[in-house]
Amino acid sequence: MTDQALLRLSGIGKTYESGTRALQEIGFDVACGGFVSLVGPSGCGKSTLLRLIAGLMRPSEGRLTWRDGARPETGFVFQDATLMPWASVFENVYLPLKLKGLAREDCRVRVMEALARVGLSDEAEAMPRALSGGMKMRVSIARALVMEPSLLLMDEPFAALDELTREKLDDDLLTLWKEQSWTVLFVTHSVFEAVYLSERVLVFSHEGKITHDIAIEGGFPRGDAFRESALYFEQAKRVSAALRGEVRP
Ligand code: ADP
Repeated sequence: MTDQALLRLSGIGKTYESGTRALQEIGFDVACGGFVSLVGPSGCGKSTLLRLIAGLMRPSEGRLTWRDGARPETGFVFQDATLMPWASVFENVYLPLKLKGLAREDCRVRVMEALARVGLSDEAEAMPRALSGGMKMRVSIARALVMEPSLLLMDEPFAALDELTREKLDDDLLTLWKEQSWTVLFVTHSVFEAVYLSERVLVFSHEGKITHDIAIEGGFPRGDAFRESALYFEQAKRVSAALRGEVRP
């Protein structure tokens, strides 16, 4: 394992009790501070892999090796913002700190800082029902980043949002990624989003194997110039072709 790798996965397989073989022979290194997207047909094991990395389940085969011997502080963001509807934005972001036994007053500054980072300083007392889908997702991101994670696992976080909101959140995510030096693993159905965000795209087959590991060219920060570039389209075409090869006709 190289010094730059935060995590090494070797020979990972996962078979559920139902007999479903969700993942097979998964092996790759995740560079510290890297941005890696996972794409593949529905049911190919992407969420299963994130749950294994989060430590929510154990693999049936293989092992995960962490650079420092243990998983670093990890944030998990799902497609559904999963906010508590009866609690304010502040309370939703405070929740993980509360679960760690920290008093509300001691956490006020941290919560407000997390909200400021996602542009929601003025919404601390708002209730989730008063927020747009994009704002709810920002609250969900603030709730992950209030724990100051070094690893962020994101499972189709922006899939339910309209295109413009998604583009804005993609840009904000890239800004935060650089600012916070996160390592990000990002599951998406959108080839364009994967290429826009990532340094590297892993393509899964329906059998739960990684078939392509594609390095994405183009420096950061990325913005409209990258979105409109031939390089962006060429790379999206390449990932699409890899993916098409893996989708059952
Ligand atoms: P993806 O995220 O790529 O859509 P998943 O990781 O959700 O794929 O699922 C991979 C396979 O494992 C699918 O066949 C799915 O039905 C199955 N699966 C997922 N979670 C469970 C579970 N808790 N129990 C049994 N099978 C599951």
